[in-house]
Amino acid sequence: MASEPPVVPIIGGGPAGMSCALWLHNYGLYPIIIEKESALGGMARMSPYPNEWLLGQRGKTARENAAEFAAHIRGLGIETWLGTTPHRLHRENYVRWRLDASGAAAARSLLGPAIVIATGTRFAGEEWVDGVKNARRMAAAGRLHLGASAVGEPGADLGSHVAVIGGGDNAFDVSRMLAEKGVRVSVLMRSQSPRAQPVLVERLRLYQISGLVQVISGRTVEALHDAGSGVKVRLNGGGEIEA
Ligand SMILES: Cc1cc2nc3c(=O)[nH]c(=O)nc-3n(C[C@H](O)[C@H](O)[C@H](O)COP(=O)(O)OP(=O)(O)OC[C@H]3O[C@@H](n4cnc5c(N)ncnc54)[C@H](O)[C@@H]3O)c2cc1C
Repeated sequence: MASEPPVVPIIGGGPAGMSCALWLHNYGLYPIIIEKESALGGMARMSPYPNEWLLGQRGKTARENAAEFAAHIRGLGIETWLGTTPHRLHRENYVRWRLDASGAAAARSLLGPAIVIATGTRFAGEEWVDGVKNARRMAAAGRLHLGASAVGEPGADLGSHVAVIGGGDNAFDVSRMLAEKGVRVSVLMRSQSPRAQPVLVERLRLYQISGLVQVISGRTVEALHDAGSGVKVRLNGGGEIEA
């Protein structure tokens, strides 16, 4: 008599968790995806931009890719627990783990020989928001956007001047996209030189030369204040810009 395939819980239903589920399923195991949000997709679900890094998916947004990955998982009948978070993991015996989870459905437990953790990375902006006066309030009012996705949303109201805070890939890429739309941009970065890939820095330089973009280095943001429908950004060491 064939024995039941081993159950393998996968914590996190982003692209990594879904890919892992596909592989385990193909190997004849029984993966179960445990995802705290109400849908599969992880960070890719939030991105309105084309993902230029996946073969065979040219022009498709990361959000579309995420939806296709999720449809693939559903099509294979891979069990998925949405709105669920594990809260306890303990060793049942030498060869089995027990994982207790709770959330949208009733509390449930799983017993398996292995557990996959695919919880992704956390967005670093959250800590930043808590350290800057009024930032949380501005974010709640929709005048401060965390992460790179807001700028690419269809119909986003960008105004005529956007302050982009950060000196990494996202900051430089988003600034270039804004400049391409004719929006004036001030990039504010803590470090003296950008952390972004040189190619992204170079792409923005064109707009710096034309005066549409200014890059302010070695400064941090102290506070945000209301300025009509915009935001006044107060910098450390004095000075402010309105965006
Ligand atoms: C605006 C934007 C643009 C991007 N552009 C690109 C691009 O062009 N190309 C590219 O390759 N990548 C891009 N990325 C990054 C890409 O989305 C991520 O690299 C990818 O989603 C990482 O996949 P992951 O599965 O490792 O993690 P995540 O996508 O972060 O997924 C982790 C999942 O785990 C869940 N989770 C976390 N903790 C728990 C828990 N305790 N219990 C249950 N579930 C939990 C989360 O809810 C999430 O669904 C972009 C991201 C954003 C936001």
